[in-house]
Amino acid sequence: MVFLQREASCAICALHSDDAELAAHEVWRDDLWLLRHHPQPAPLTGWCLLDARRHCAGPLDFAPEEAREWGVVVQRASLLVKQVTGCERVYAIAFGEGARHLHLHLIPRSGDDPRTTAWKIADLYRHVEAGKVAAASADCVNDWLQRARAMAPRLLNG
Ligand SMILES: [Zn+2]
Repeated sequence: MVFLQREASCAICALHSDDAELAAHEVWRDDLWLLRHHPQPAPLTGWCLLDARRHCAGPLDFAPEEAREWGVVVQRASLLVKQVTGCERVYAIAFGEGARHLHLHLIPRSGDDPRTTAWKIADLYRHVEAGKVAAASADCVNDWLQRARAMAPRLLNG
């Protein structure tokens, strides 16, 4: 069993203690991982984050149990994003600079949206963050979340 220690200065640890934020955006969790939709402003409907529940910077710092389960949970969470969003591919990107706590971005890549092509996705992210491009609508995100939460137990448990 991995002990879920928290780091006082960490934004992801704080978010994991924020019941209102989790009620708004959490999709699924188990003992090790928490899958959530990107908070507002969300660059795209279906843009998710797969967090380590433990304060852990990334694969370099994995406990053995996290290392064993990582591949399975990343595959299943990516499949959930693909099926609920209807995109062709799902990018998986983790820098861990904004917070030194693993939060893997799972990003829907759609062939009919050129803004989602490779590194153009970073431009989209910055433009939405700066308010230059409209974020995904709250209605679309909420609809996506309802469908994702309904599908998550079948795809992600066990
Ligand atoms: Zn943390």
